[in-house]
Amino acid sequence: MVQKLTDKKILVTGGAGFIGSNLCEYFLGNDNEVLCLDDLSTGYLTNLESLLSNPKFQFIKGDICDYATCVKVLEGVDYVFHQAALGSIPRSIDNPRRSNEVNVSGFLNMLTAAKEEGVKRFIFAASSSTYGDHKGLPKVEDKIGNPLSPYAVTKYTNELYGKVFSDLYGMEIIGLRYFNVFGKNQSPEGPYAAAIPKFVSALIGKESPTIHGDGEQSRDFTYIANVLQANEKAALAESNVAMGEIYNVACGQKCTVNELLEILKSELTQFDSEIAEVEIIYGPERPGDVKHSLADISKAKNNLDYRPNFDLKKGIKKAIHWYWQSLSLSN
Ligand code: NAD
Repeated sequence: MVQKLTDKKILVTGGAGFIGSNLCEYFLGNDNEVLCLDDLSTGYLTNLESLLSNPKFQFIKGDICDYATCVKVLEGVDYVFHQAALGSIPRSIDNPRRSNEVNVSGFLNMLTAAKEEGVKRFIFAASSSTYGDHKGLPKVEDKIGNPLSPYAVTKYTNELYGKVFSDLYGMEIIGLRYFNVFGKNQSPEGPYAAAIPKFVSALIGKESPTIHGDGEQSRDFTYIANVLQANEKAALAESNVAMGEIYNVACGQKCTVNELLEILKSELTQFDSEIAEVEIIYGPERPGDVKHSLADISKAKNNLDYRPNFDLKKGIKKAIHWYWQSLSLSN
C-alpha cells in the first residue's frame, strides 16, 4: 500500500510560488492542515485561488527575513517544507546581497525557529546548481565542484547549515536537490523566468524563443509530480536512514535544450499547427550556467524509496495543457 502523509500540520514556505503552491495543493488534498507563508515577491495568490476557501488552508503574507514571523507561523507545526527563496542564477548575479538575505539569512531564520518550536522534520529545497563546475556525469550527491553563481553559493550554504543543525541539535532535516523542475503554476513572467515556461509562452505567441548558447547544453528536466513525491517520501522516511542528508530529485534523463524545444513545438502543434514554423534564435551563453546536468537518483531511490513516475515527455504531455490554457489567455 502506498503510504501517504495525512492528518498533519504542515508549513510550506514560498507556498505561493511554483513548487510551493503544488505542495500546498497536494498536502491539502491528503487531508492535512496546511499553512503557507509567502511574501509574494515572486509568487502569486492566483496560484492558491482554489485553496483559499478550504478551512484547512491558511495563507500568511510574511517575510522569512523577519525572525518573529518565522517563530509565529511554526507554532504547532509538524512538518516544514521550506521552498521560499529567490530563485534564478541571473537574479543572484544582478543582486547577490538580496539573494543572500533571503536564501541564507531567511533560511537560517526558518531553521532556527524550527529548532525552537520543535518541529518533527524540516525538508528544504536545495538545488542542482550546487554541482557548479564539477564535470562528472551523472551527478552524485557527494561530488560537487566550485559554485558558479551567488545563487549556487546560497543553496550550498543551506545544505551546510542543514547538516550542522542535524548533527548539533539532532534535528530531522532533509535537503532535496531539485533539477530544473517544470509544470503547473510556473510563471513565464519577467527576466528571471525559467526556460520551459518562457519557451512555451514565446511559442504560443508565435515569437521566436531565444536559446542561450548553441542549445547543446543539457538538463535533467523534472516534472513537478516527481518533486511532490520526493517531498512526501522525505517526510515519511525512517529517521535512522535519511537525516541530515541531501538527495538528488530529478528524472535521471538527459535532454538538450534543442531537443526540449522540438518536444515543446511538437506538443503545442496539437493546439495550433502554425507553431511548428516558429524559428529559434540563438544568443550568447549566460554567465553562471553549467553546460550539462544529469542526476544520479539512486540515493533517493534507495533511502527514500523515490520512484519518479514521469519522464520528460510524459511530464510535458501533462503540463502542456496547463501551459496552453493559462498562457494562451495571457498572450
Ligand atoms: P518561485 O519563485 O516560484 O517560488 C518561491 C516563492 O518564495 C515565491 O512564492 C516567493 O514569493 C517566495 N519568497 C521569496 N522570498 C521570500 C521571503 N523573503 N519570504 C517569504 N517568501 C518568499 O520558485 P520555485 O521554482 O517554486 O522554487 C522553489 C524552491 O525550489 C526555491 O527554494 C528554489 O531555489 C528551489 N529550486 C527550484 C528549482 C526549479 O527548477 N524551479 C530548481 C532547484 C531549486
